[in-house]
Amino acid sequence: MIKDLIFHSTLILSYLFIIGFVISREMKSLYSPFVQKLILGTATGLMGIVLMYFSVNVSSGVIIDLRHVFIIIAALFGGPVAAVLSGVIIGTARMLLYGLSEASISAGLLMMLIGCMSGALSKLRIRIYAKGLLMNIVSLASIYVTLAFLIDPAFAGLNAAYLSVVSIPLGFLAVFLNIYLYKTNEMMWKMRQEARVDYLTGLNNVRTFDEVLNNYKKEQGVRGEFLSILFIDIDFFKRVNDTHGHDAGDEVLKQLASVLRQNARSFDIVSRNGGEEFSVLMPDCQNERAVEVGERIRQAVERFPFRLPAGGPLYITVSIGVASYPETVGTVDELVKQADDALYAAKKSGRNKVISGERHLETSRLNA
Ligand code: GH3
Ligand code: MG
Ligand code: MG
Repeated sequence: MIKDLIFHSTLILSYLFIIGFVISREMKSLYSPFVQKLILGTATGLMGIVLMYFSVNVSSGVIIDLRHVFIIIAALFGGPVAAVLSGVIIGTARMLLYGLSEASISAGLLMMLIGCMSGALSKLRIRIYAKGLLMNIVSLASIYVTLAFLIDPAFAGLNAAYLSVVSIPLGFLAVFLNIYLYKTNEMMWKMRQEARVDYLTGLNNVRTFDEVLNNYKKEQGVRGEFLSILFIDIDFFKRVNDTHGHDAGDEVLKQLASVLRQNARSFDIVSRNGGEEFSVLMPDCQNERAVEVGERIRQAVERFPFRLPAGGPLYITVSIGVASYPETVGTVDELVKQADDALYAAKKSGRNKVISGERHLETSRLNA
């Protein structure tokens, strides 16, 4: 019987990887917490049924396995809803799949009871390992009582002993593995996030900017969509650092990021391309409109009272270069170069300006 129980244990541990996914960040963003609890309850319930299929038949209608461990996992990671659901699924299956008998009804009800008790215990404010152990002991005690009632106390004692030897260490291992999976999953999510986002401003970083632009390069002509770009550089930013210190400079960069976000459209891609240089990628935006948005940003920055650590307000200006596909450039590849040149021209001719690349194609023709 120990052999079977060990087989069950490996089945449970491998299944935990699926559970790890159920409680992962990806799932969190897809479903509401309540739906996740339902999923966890259903998944553990179904797996309990699988365990039942492999269970050990000890005497007429009495079978032994570790399915209660799944109910405990549901309770620990999904609370009462998942635990009760899991218990009800396993209990109902126990009654229906093996034919209604005194043994199957008692065992089925027992699983539902374990679901309810574990669900209730899940509300305790103690360490998760202690909670799991407590649920396990309560479950094992209930299994013992049921077996003692169905067969005899000596037999029940022996089985409960076997079950305990395997299920208690397994319980600890399951909790450990689940937490481990959850943590690595969180870490991966965070690292992926950090790889895409500028740490100072929370805008997209240059890597994300390149990625988006490269996708447009691949797709140009296919979608036949407009794409405009604004290159934004703070005027005389070095002076801000020199006069007020680097921390004040950082503060200005952060606040500028929020001014940019507020003045861009929700689906524009606002990035910090490096240092005090920013960009706004504007899908489906014609040149005329892009220049308008650039001008709106220029004015918004000019009027914005930047707060400094030492007080303020500080007023700064930005220069902006604009380029638009397909009106001012023939390919998406040329966008960056032209926007950069336009920005340089804006700097050269006095700063605090929006300058666009020249239009070769008239928008009215494009719209025709
Ligand atoms: P221009 O009008 O020609 O753009 O003048 P500028 O002073 O803004 O340009 P320059 O390229 O000479 O200097 C950019 C400055 O930006 C230099 C550097 O100290 C500052 N800078 C770059 N990155 C950061 C940053 O992350 N934090 C802070 N505080 N300053 C930065
Ligand atoms: Mg610069
Ligand atoms: Mg500058």
